[in-house]
Amino acid sequence: MKKIYLDYAATTPLDKEVFEAMLPYFEEKFGNPGSVHILGQEAQAALDNARLAISKCLNAKPEEIIFAGSATEANNLAIRGVIKAISNGKKPHIITSAIEHESILETCRDLENHNLVEVSYLGVAGNGIIKVDDVQGAVKENTVLISIHYANNEIGTIQPIAEIGAAVARLNDARLVKGQERIYFHTDAVQAFQFFDISPKKLSVDLLTFSGHKIHGPKGIAALYVNSESVLEPIITGGGQEFGLRPGTENVPAIVGFAKAVELAASSREEANKRTKDLRDELYLGIAKIKREVKLNDAREPRLPNNLNLSFPGHTGEELLLLLDSEGVAVSTGSACQAKSAKPSHVLIALGLDEREANSSLRFSLGRPTTKEEISQTLKVIEKIFLRLNT
Ligand code: PLP
Repeated sequence: MKKIYLDYAATTPLDKEVFEAMLPYFEEKFGNPGSVHILGQEAQAALDNARLAISKCLNAKPEEIIFAGSATEANNLAIRGVIKAISNGKKPHIITSAIEHESILETCRDLENHNLVEVSYLGVAGNGIIKVDDVQGAVKENTVLISIHYANNEIGTIQPIAEIGAAVARLNDARLVKGQERIYFHTDAVQAFQFFDISPKKLSVDLLTFSGHKIHGPKGIAALYVNSESVLEPIITGGGQEFGLRPGTENVPAIVGFAKAVELAASSREEANKRTKDLRDELYLGIAKIKREVKLNDAREPRLPNNLNLSFPGHTGEELLLLLDSEGVAVSTGSACQAKSAKPSHVLIALGLDEREANSSLRFSLGRPTTKEEISQTLKVIEKIFLRLNT
């Protein structure tokens, strides 16, 4: 039985070109970029070239790209790093949303639990989209950081990042006149990178997270874009790597692979966007024909072209996931980080779904390699499963 993978929001397979670019750095070019000898210089050159290639794709400067071990770590560096760097005697205030990834929410909660910050969690009732007015309305005198993700990993909704960025820039202009501290704006663009140009300057963001394994690069590598205006302190201590912001010997093979994956994603966005959306819509229409009661969470555009989050009334997502898996189709009930938890998705609850509806959801997420044949085969499997369940 040929397996069909429809869980690209959880992770993606390594692109062959990425794998090939990485190979020499596991084998003969294994040096530590910190070493002075030729092997070390070779590794340093690979690191510099990778940083340069990524910075070009983001229309940024090489020194604005800080490599980290995961998007979770990069998000921690953005939030904890800003909070650590600010010491004006007032308790700092952070604005975020109720539908962020756990790496944002748990970091904010941890800082709150240690009484280090106060946090406003903006709601998204109904449509999964954060309102610019709500962000502006939540700003207080002690607000130092706003962290809003670019695209949601469970329901695919896309947030008005450029509009929020412009609003924050206006607030900062007014603060500058009054001699007040500026507000930093961070976005977690992990799910968006594959499909959209996330150039930080275009979005007016100070800090931006993106990750290797969501774009057909390796796991264990991500980056935080940090513009030159941001004040940030490292959250781990050690050597001076990554401009002092992320000490630890650099993962050269992964960084080389990440750069290749970034270049491939940037050059295939337009085509991937259209193709994936067409296949996703074909899958949705096919499922809606098989199961008329199916509910799309959330139908609102703009949303990621690869995301389809559906509630199947009368069934649990887990039951359907296991049946699909037994037929060779891999999907998810929501975020991979929460997949093994019995708790309903915090994103679907924030949308206004009740626990039962939230627990009846399945997330299909398509990727660059998804084919028309895979979609047809998946629809056949879904039809077979519901025929069996209804008898
Ligand atoms: N942010 C978003 C939006 C994500 O979807 C994910 C992973 O699913 C992460 C952050 C964290 O990525 P990782 O688990 O690779 O650190």
